[in-house]
Amino acid sequence: MASPKRFIAGAVCPRCAEMDKITMFTTEAGDQIRECVACGYTDALSDQPQPEAPEIETRVNKKANTDDHTVKQVVFFKAGSED
Ligand SMILES: [Zn+2]
Repeated sequence: MASPKRFIAGAVCPRCAEMDKITMFTTEAGDQIRECVACGYTDALSDQPQPEAPEIETRVNKKANTDDHTVKQVVFFKAGSED
């Protein structure tokens, strides 16, 4: 059953690092989708119940390597040296 989008308080987007921009909703197929309204990032979550929170830490740690490549595309601070 599809569910309306709900903002996840305190959730930080793994792509743009914006807080409180992540919505979560369930498709008619039963897939849980996370979506960032700031940058358009989407992530499908498996529908299986998560046993304990510690597993999330492992996923975040693993993802950090992949995100490294993404971070390079986004330049927040441009150091303009005018020497
Ligand atoms: Zn985002």
